[in-house]
Amino acid sequence: MTTTLMTLTEKTNRSAAAEEMARLEMAVESELLQAQHQAAVVASGESGRFTLRGDDAHNGSLAERLHAAWHVFGFDSLYALDESGSVVLGLEMGQPIGDAGFSMVKPMIIHLIRTVEANRRRAQEAGAYDLSSPGFEKSHGASALLHDGTGLTLASVVPIKALTYGSGGSVTLVTLRAVPDSALRDIGRRYGLGKLTFTTSGSAASPFSVAISDASGSRIGTITWEFSRPGSAMLPNLLLIVMTGLLAVIGAFAVLFDRLRKLGAEMTREEEKANRLASHDHLSGLLNRRSFNERITAEMDRTRRMHSGFALHIVDLDRFKEVNDTLGHQAGDAVIREAARRIQDTVRGADIVARLGGDEFAIVQVDTETTHEAGALAVRLREAINQPIRIGGAEITVGCSIGIVLAPQEDHDVDGVISLADSALYQAKNDGRNRYRFFEESIDAHLKMKQFVEEELRDAIAQNQLELHYQPQVSADGLTIRGVEALVRWRHPVRGLILPLEFISIAEERGLMLPLSQWVLRRACEDGKRWGNIKVAVNVSAAQFKQPNFVRDLLVSVDDIGFDLSRLELELTEGMIVEDEEKAEQAIFALREHGISLALDDFGTGYSSLIYLRRFPFDKIKIDRAFLESMETTGESAILVHSVVHLGRALGLTVCAEGIETEEQHRFLQAVGCHELQGYLFSKPVTSDRIDEMLASGAPFARVA
Ligand code: C2E
Ligand code: MG
Ligand code: MG
Repeated sequence: MTTTLMTLTEKTNRSAAAEEMARLEMAVESELLQAQHQAAVVASGESGRFTLRGDDAHNGSLAERLHAAWHVFGFDSLYALDESGSVVLGLEMGQPIGDAGFSMVKPMIIHLIRTVEANRRRAQEAGAYDLSSPGFEKSHGASALLHDGTGLTLASVVPIKALTYGSGGSVTLVTLRAVPDSALRDIGRRYGLGKLTFTTSGSAASPFSVAISDASGSRIGTITWEFSRPGSAMLPNLLLIVMTGLLAVIGAFAVLFDRLRKLGAEMTREEEKANRLASHDHLSGLLNRRSFNERITAEMDRTRRMHSGFALHIVDLDRFKEVNDTLGHQAGDAVIREAARRIQDTVRGADIVARLGGDEFAIVQVDTETTHEAGALAVRLREAINQPIRIGGAEITVGCSIGIVLAPQEDHDVDGVISLADSALYQAKNDGRNRYRFFEESIDAHLKMKQFVEEELRDAIAQNQLELHYQPQVSADGLTIRGVEALVRWRHPVRGLILPLEFISIAEERGLMLPLSQWVLRRACEDGKRWGNIKVAVNVSAAQFKQPNFVRDLLVSVDDIGFDLSRLELELTEGMIVEDEEKAEQAIFALREHGISLALDDFGTGYSSLIYLRRFPFDKIKIDRAFLESMETTGESAILVHSVVHLGRALGLTVCAEGIETEEQHRFLQAVGCHELQGYLFSKPVTSDRIDEMLASGAPFARVA
């Protein structure tokens, strides 16, 4: 019996350990990439316009940039090196230091410098060292952890864009940031790994550790985490129960009784503690979703009995994902904590506040029966959250959208009421974010649409009601069509033209995406055959991607039509990869082997795009339209767009920006080095006949309203 228990707990422990190890590896990888990304932001300068010469006057702008980087990203030292590896500018703790200190560091980062140099040489030899061309095969930058005998340091080396020195040699940026124990603890907390400790090689390594290598691949030590041992946690209790049985048999009632009493008391204490932990979200300190559900259910019952009411607000931060992706999880966590604090400070003591997950919060405003009162709170919430948040040296404004519903609503239980508030939130976001919306019957249209799609979409395919439109993707100068993206439309005999945003997600939910995707792919290949060499991009749906035979079926269809695989580009989103990374990896590699290109769509709206970019061999990223929109409202996020473009280029990807509507956006994206542009400024999605005409009219590409 004891052996069985041991096996059970061991199994539980083993799978948990493997999962935690993967999490730690991801944490390290993500920190490295983050540092490299931040260095890339610094190196990219202002559209690469500044030049560095030998005199101080010209070093000014670079010095300012290094200083800003120290301030915002918290690098301890930054060095700009010329081609011979000599320091042109050095900054330590915000102070100019020339090359002091660099000679000590150099041997440890020489491998990184060589990697970057080799990347550069290779690109130059291939004639691809043209920063405006998508020809970079590999990342130009490199990052690694080092150990200087006293502690860990994160080092990144990136080439400085469009910058030459002296006789025309290239310039490189080195950034260093110490990783003290407190930083490791923080990473451990963020990734739910308990206390992380670094030990140099040679010291006794626990089985719950991952090896850390420096840039040359030599092992510098291990990072150990505190394994949670979910299985072992069960063991003492189980054993105790077994023991109890034995004791009963031999009649040691007194001992047994005493033990059980103590155990009982201990268990109650543990249970209380666990309950407290289980009911609150550890990051924000607010109620978590589970206890929120309990509290709102109780409130609903109470208000029904008392014939009173409450308002439910669902608050979603508008630019949270951007902050998280660009400034890192630490900044993201700080934003969540600050938003939680502000919400808590804005509501009354009796109101119920919870974090539902991610960047979503819920507030039950008790004893509220009018839209006037609820609207007033929403205004205050929005104002509170709209105040800039200071993180390190940076100021961030995130903004929020709020969906509100007055409850209780007849015919709706708690889940129903929450989903009404969700619909209102959806509306608030759709109306342009940073605003609040009440649930209205018109929003209910969304729910009705669901029903309609369910009933009619299947037939629509058979009855030829679907149309495929194409939107050109043009070169950065806006003159040549590089490719087209296929976008489906539904021309309903009564409702007229229905756009995909209205039916795709519903079709996805209701299992109707497979026949639709199949139709789109075949149609796009048929039409695409007429269009010379340009790429034809097709959006892949989650349902399609999940099919066990996705790759094979796709190849069969394309082959059947006789379309050239190397002209096909598939657009995937992060959501699809997250679901099953292993499977996604296999599919992606298989598609690549057949010469199909892959684009990561909606970039900048997800959580961990940076990690996926490194792990999966995409050819292209498509910067989401929402990114450009936010750039317009706050000039500050221009640097985010800039850094994303830079990052994409550094990883050797083609960068395409979506939703270009104004000349100003065009100029900006062209200046920061975007390779391709797609948007109404160049052309809306049009029928295949129009694409025929556009291609026939030849360059320069004529714009269409
Ligand atoms: P997406 O793949 O990100 O496509 C880009 C969307 O942005 C398209 O919306 C396009 O019309 C719109 N857009 C492009 N330039 C501009 C601009 O300058 N301003 C504005 N306001 N919008 C612009 P659309 O056609 O409504 O498609 C929406 C989404 O529906 C697509 O987003 C894609 O995710 C999905 N979708 C469309 N067709 C298909 C399909 O055949 N299969 C699958 N699975 N999804 C599809
Ligand atoms: Mg797309
Ligand atoms: Mg997109």
